[in-house]
Amino acid sequence: MSDAVGDRFLGRYSYIDIPGLAAKDGAVILPVGAMEQHGPHMPLFTDALIVQSLVAGALERLPEDHPFFYLYPLAYSYSMEHADFAGTVTLSAQTTMSVLMDIAQSLARSGFRKLVFLNGHGGNVGLLHVTAREIHIKTGLWVFVIHGGSLAPKGIFDDKEREEGIHAGASETSLVMSLMPEWVREDRIVGEYPLLIQDASLLSVEGRFPVAWSTRDVSASGVIGDARQASSSTGDALFDGMVEKLSKVLVEIAHFQGATSSEDNAIRIVG
Ligand SMILES: [Zn+2]
Repeated sequence: MSDAVGDRFLGRYSYIDIPGLAAKDGAVILPVGAMEQHGPHMPLFTDALIVQSLVAGALERLPEDHPFFYLYPLAYSYSMEHADFAGTVTLSAQTTMSVLMDIAQSLARSGFRKLVFLNGHGGNVGLLHVTAREIHIKTGLWVFVIHGGSLAPKGIFDDKEREEGIHAGASETSLVMSLMPEWVREDRIVGEYPLLIQDASLLSVEGRFPVAWSTRDVSASGVIGDARQASSSTGDALFDGMVEKLSKVLVEIAHFQGATSSEDNAIRIVG
């Protein structure tokens, strides 16, 4: 890790330093990972590995005067859909929300005004949006939610894999092949698409008209997608594209100054 990134680790400072860092419009990034099954070929730590690597990569590219600091990743979150696969360590939805709220309240008490959740786990998506709003209302913090999947450049995988390769498929497998190749068991790689919904043109396991599922409903192997399309060179390109996008989002967060007062806004709307 470079000095530029190491200096952004919030835990390296003493409590004396914190008010000064927070006062300079400091924003804190919490990478949100998971400890959950990722098919027979990939490590339980996949999501945490990806988000912590993305944060390090993006901070490396940010101008030094953008005051971002990061916390260690939250290594456990809401993985209940994978709970019956060995090795999965999940928090309940309520516990996950409480942990995030407690972290946010601690940061607000320390004087920070912005918090960024960089999320690596699809099962957290809805919960993070609700929690972010709760945090904002209770603490006044501006909370930004960035999902790893939204950072991926288009055109790397075919349409089917882009839509249905949602867990331990080509994209996550490529990323781990690039970041930590010795953690991938290439001899166990499989492809498996969900068969839960057939004869329906509007319903899907994700998307606009979803049904709630548990992984056993959609996959025998635990893989949802075609990990056979993965390669480390694809992972390099994918990671680079994601880091590039993340650093651009962070720049906009650095420039974000919050709402104008609602009175100003009302005058603007009325003209
Ligand atoms: Zn994952």
